[in-house]
Amino acid sequence: MSEQEQAYVAEAFKSNFVAPLGPQLDAFEERVSDYLGEGLHCVGLSSGSAALHLALRIAGVGPGDEVWVSSMTFAGGIFPVNYLGARPRFFDLDPASWTVDVNILSDELERAAREGRLPQAIVPTDLYGQSVDLNALEALAKSHGVRLIVDSAESLGATYRSGRKAGTGGDAAILSFNGNKIITTSGGGMLVTRHKAWADEARFLATQARDPAPHYEHSTYGYNYRLSNICAAIGLGQMAVLDERVARRRTIFERYRDALSRPGISFMPEPEGLRSTRWLTALTIDAAVVGVTREDIRLSLLEHEIESRPLWKPMHLQPLYADAPYHGLGVDERLFERGLCLPSGSDMTDDQQDEVIERILKLVVA
Ligand SMILES: *Cc1c(COP(=O)(O)O)cnc(C)c1O
Repeated sequence: MSEQEQAYVAEAFKSNFVAPLGPQLDAFEERVSDYLGEGLHCVGLSSGSAALHLALRIAGVGPGDEVWVSSMTFAGGIFPVNYLGARPRFFDLDPASWTVDVNILSDELERAAREGRLPQAIVPTDLYGQSVDLNALEALAKSHGVRLIVDSAESLGATYRSGRKAGTGGDAAILSFNGNKIITTSGGGMLVTRHKAWADEARFLATQARDPAPHYEHSTYGYNYRLSNICAAIGLGQMAVLDERVARRRTIFERYRDALSRPGISFMPEPEGLRSTRWLTALTIDAAVVGVTREDIRLSLLEHEIESRPLWKPMHLQPLYADAPYHGLGVDERLFERGLCLPSGSDMTDDQQDEVIERILKLVVA
């Protein structure tokens, strides 16, 4: 937390809107919309997964449909496909960006179009704070008439080319304000869309699909997915420090890179013209060169109560999705084998970071 959240929460209490609606929720949606620019519609929700669930349903995803997704991502960015009885098809990453490989996706879309089995939606992930290639993906989705929903849960604060913000892409983007994200409302999410009709439908579905009537009237089923007004008040305070947080995370990344870069240790690339939030500092370890595996490093850090994590395990390697199709060259598999996310919290001190760096340097061959 910064220091402003409590004042916003106090205001929310004073207004007595302790509910999933109220002035703070309206103001939070407006604040995020202003931040993103482009006059987009924002709907505050209880989580990023809820936002994806609604976006997929509004995109028309239903039982038996396919949704094409990045394999290397967090489960919350995939499970909503299952909620709708649809099936994921997984795609590899481009090693130059660690975001979805647009060439592989493009080839497969062409094949699927010829065979009359296009997916209902495509959901690429902005990995570890880096935007996907929005121009290329939007052009692809448009040319095939397929819905594009961008999972920007990890990338609020990042920019794509010519200053366009992450979270503005496709038919809709989803954001997460879970406790581990760059800003948080303790738990929460948002659907961001350029279609007013999508935003209206999201609000309707997120509040139990109540038809206009004095009594409770339902012609479809909905969800209890709206963001609490109290959580939105926290979000208002957090939005004020978002750019600061991004700057801090980028500084943390640069300090790690300056200290640890050497043959055998590579950092997540940042393509020309893009600006990642560096939500997590992610790197790969080549054991043949530095003499230790990423697991050796992780366990050694853990002995000193320093938590690091392997990169996301690709979803096509998960037992749950053992039968799901995958297209790629195994770039994501190799990243998972060798990749590590280092402690990257905005409130980590330089001394704490120096300790992490020193402990890693002691392990690797110079
Ligand atoms: C965090 C996250 C989500 C889910 O957001 P929740 O708010 O935790 O439901 C989805 N996709 C990605 C890539 C995430 O990192």
